[in-house]
Amino acid sequence: MKKIAVLALQGAFIEHEQRLRELGAEVVEIRRLADWHQPKDGLILPGGESTVMLKLLYDLHLFHPIQEAIQKGLPTFGTCAGLILLAKQVENEPARRLGTMDITVRRNAYGRQLGSFHTFAAMKNIGENIPMTFIRAPYISEARPNVDLLSIVEGHIVAARQENQLVTAFHPELDTDASVHRYFLQMI
Ligand code: GLN
Repeated sequence: MKKIAVLALQGAFIEHEQRLRELGAEVVEIRRLADWHQPKDGLILPGGESTVMLKLLYDLHLFHPIQEAIQKGLPTFGTCAGLILLAKQVENEPARRLGTMDITVRRNAYGRQLGSFHTFAAMKNIGENIPMTFIRAPYISEARPNVDLLSIVEGHIVAARQENQLVTAFHPELDTDASVHRYFLQMI
């Protein structure tokens, strides 16, 4: 059985756990460093507030071990704020992040108040009609050629993969369709 670590400091992690369990995976919640030392086959960085998550990662001494594991190839799936944590660059924000993925991200890209919407769009290698819930979402404004673009909505990149890293600007865990999580488990 595949064992997936889910960062459970803040944000929408419970829904990720539900999707994973439905697909027969085991979940390890990461709340402190001791949790991280358990064996795991993959990692999910959920949506929430990336600045808060980043601060907690530092304060709990999780930042460097997680960054190193991703760099060494641990399959990792970041949604929304999780995508922001993985981005090498965020427009107009010099703060340090995990920075393992060769993308530039625009935070709160759809406006702060009217930034939440739901749509269906195609995702390469996954499906033609994937439900996508966007909540104060970022999008990827630039990606290096080594990044595979998986979905474009209204001209903006909203899902991508770079080797062991998968990111979505939307929240697939908030819809009952588990195909994006299934795809992530197949990356392992
Ligand atoms: N706006 C949040 C951020 O910038 C992300 C929103 C989300 O994860 N739903 O961190």
